[in-house]
Amino acid sequence: MNPIEQHEQLTTIIEQEVRARRHRAAAPSKPTPHPSGERLYDYALGWLDSSENTEIQRHLAVCPACVRELGAILKFEQALEIEDEQPSIVERAALWMSKLWMPLWAGELVTAADIPAQKHRFEMEAGSGEITVTCFWRGEDENAPAYLHIAWRADMQTPGEFRARFVSAETQTPLVELPLGRRLYGEKTFTSQELGFDPSRQRWGIGITLVEIDSIPDEGA
Ligand SMILES: [Zn+2]
Repeated sequence: MNPIEQHEQLTTIIEQEVRARRHRAAAPSKPTPHPSGERLYDYALGWLDSSENTEIQRHLAVCPACVRELGAILKFEQALEIEDEQPSIVERAALWMSKLWMPLWAGELVTAADIPAQKHRFEMEAGSGEITVTCFWRGEDENAPAYLHIAWRADMQTPGEFRARFVSAETQTPLVELPLGRRLYGEKTFTSQELGFDPSRQRWGIGITLVEIDSIPDEGA
């Protein structure tokens, strides 16, 4: 997508937001379920057919939260394109680095009742493997700090250690990289202290890196 198309898309979003406000002013809004993260991404990237587009647009007309998410997705994708043009950061002994993904609602306080866990499939080149990652996060309360829960399931032949790398969704700058271990599936919870940022307040993106086992100290995984 070129900058002009991106600009046009952002303009469309603003128009949708204006229409949504008028609509709410005119009639009480009728809540429909939020589209899944994958669907909203597909919509943002123009991969849906026209009837699916209409369905999403109807929802966007009454859901300012999803309009905001769509705006964040487009901003993130735009930043990724800029990143792609720059020389990549040299990662020590990385066997594979996935693209980055910004989960829907990342950086927002969400409740279990409203927002389901967000799921994404990262694919390796030429169908040589994939890893599916599911995330959910909660804000701080009186009993516990803010945390991020991550579950992964990999289907790949290359042995290595999985690491989750987090970036700021606004600037694409690295936030932290944390080990997930060598198992093909598992789950981990990281507190805001371990992450160094609050996943319920700061917009973030995540990518998976597979590193050579020999190149890193044994972390008992
Ligand atoms: Zn919505």
